[in-house]
Amino acid sequence: MSRNIIPAVTLNDGNTLPAIGFGTYPLKGAAGVAAILSAIDNGYRLLDSACNYENEATVGMAVRKSGIARSELRITSKLPGRHHKYSAALLSIEESLYRAQLDYYDLYLIHWPNPSRDCYCEAWQALIEARDRGWLRSIGVSNFLPEHLQTLISQTGVTPAINQIEMHPYFPQQAQRAFHQQHAIVTEGWGPLGRGSDLLQEASLTELARTLNRSVAQVILRWYIQQGVIALPKSASPGRQKENLSLFDFSLSPQDIAIIDQLAKPDGRIFGFDPASHEEL
Ligand code: NAD
Repeated sequence: MSRNIIPAVTLNDGNTLPAIGFGTYPLKGAAGVAAILSAIDNGYRLLDSACNYENEATVGMAVRKSGIARSELRITSKLPGRHHKYSAALLSIEESLYRAQLDYYDLYLIHWPNPSRDCYCEAWQALIEARDRGWLRSIGVSNFLPEHLQTLISQTGVTPAINQIEMHPYFPQQAQRAFHQQHAIVTEGWGPLGRGSDLLQEASLTELARTLNRSVAQVILRWYIQQGVIALPKSASPGRQKENLSLFDFSLSPQDIAIIDQLAKPDGRIFGFDPASHEEL
């Protein structure tokens, strides 16, 4: 599939990202390099990684092996919770660049807010500084609730370009996404295919996919695209990687979308990772 078919999404800082990217957790080592190379070969240009996935070197290796110009790729990593203090955060970002052997990341996120530690504003100041030093092109956050975003914005005056959150038909995050829209924050979604839950076997989705002559994964990812949310599906399989990008030659009707929307649950988080209490270091 040609990368030209993937539309671009413009961020509040003027930079752009492809409308769908590739999740790299838990791809590592030689098998990880092969899987990521295959994803790039299949047309993915946005790669999502993190310090805590311990695979930034794997991503960097795949990028170098791919032969694709650096300017064509959008590479993401994330700051771990144990490095939220300002100086530790700057060092963490430098080390993250060294591990991937990159001069800059296109996107860097605070991985979790860890609110009980009350240090994410310091971490955000470090991301702002790293962006000003040219180490990062765009900066954002992950798993931030509206209250955390509000605090960041009011204390620093800098609005994140992205918030990467859990999102799938069980947990469509409508209120959180409305908040993003009001603040010109683009939503990225993790776990789009339900991370090995029963989502892909839901009867209403398998029936909808059958009528559209598509897979359930494609129906869900198309649902993402039509809401302007950047999905980050992960697959090591070249066939599934291709399948997950073949989304731009069909569309869902409002009735189709209504079928998917019926799967929403009040707390549909698959592993119960509520950012108000769940913390990762
Ligand atoms: P996912 O929803 O992408 O599910 C991945 C699973 O779906 C894999 O087991 C894969 O084999 C399977 N799959 C992929 N394509 C398929 C297809 N076409 N048909 C059937 N099965 C298919 O979940 P994920 O990996 O948890 O999330 C994706 C990415 O999001 C991660 O790789 C990571 O980059 C990111 N992530 C971020 C956070 C965060 O806190 N910011 C948390 C989790 C994941």
